[in-house]
Amino acid sequence: MTDSQESISRSEIVAACRKLDRKNLISAMGGNVSCRAGEDRILITPGGVSKADIGLDDLITASFEGKILKGIGRPSSEMGMHLHAYRKRPDIGAVVHAHPPVATALTLAGFKFNSKVLPEAWVMLGRVPTATYATPSTDALARSIDPYLEGHRAILLQRHGAITFGKTVGEALARMEELEHAANILYHAAMLEGRKSPASMAESEIGKLEEAFGLG
Ligand code: 13P
Ligand code: ZN
Repeated sequence: MTDSQESISRSEIVAACRKLDRKNLISAMGGNVSCRAGEDRILITPGGVSKADIGLDDLITASFEGKILKGIGRPSSEMGMHLHAYRKRPDIGAVVHAHPPVATALTLAGFKFNSKVLPEAWVMLGRVPTATYATPSTDALARSIDPYLEGHRAILLQRHGAITFGKTVGEALARMEELEHAANILYHAAMLEGRKSPASMAESEIGKLEEAFGLG
């Protein structure tokens, strides 16, 4: 990777972190983002800090064995999960892990995330499995996603959040956004299921309203 490619990747990761925060997909120190930075290394966010506030020079370059090659501070505590995904999926160029609130709530409620009910969700995400709970920041979390890595673009992490994959940081980020957006729609649809549509205002009130606002 050339210096200019690396600086583009750094900007993409930092911008993705800001967007995750802006869209309420992470809070406090949560979430992490990485991308491939050549054949033998990745660029990843630092661990234990607010990702909304990181700068370009805070990112860490690490080898596929997890050795720090460049950067100050420690890498994300979920680097093992990211590296596991890159090792198993050569087609993946970027990984986003976040704590999307509604999507995570679905895992607590045991509510199946069914992306087949929404055209956009199905096209962007395909099937989204839920990995069984594993302690965050441990090897067990990497192992928990292992059965679902093949053939999936997004995986829900029970009681924790989600992980999405993409060819680029932008693609993995868009999938995380779509996951939470779809989860929101599924949640509202489930709340409304079997309920009546609210009653209309009386026609006489509609008439008064239209007159007051010069409509019709
Ligand atoms: P890091 O700050 O170490 O990346 O951890 C955040 C997180 O979401 C852990 O699951
Ligand atoms: Zn997390």
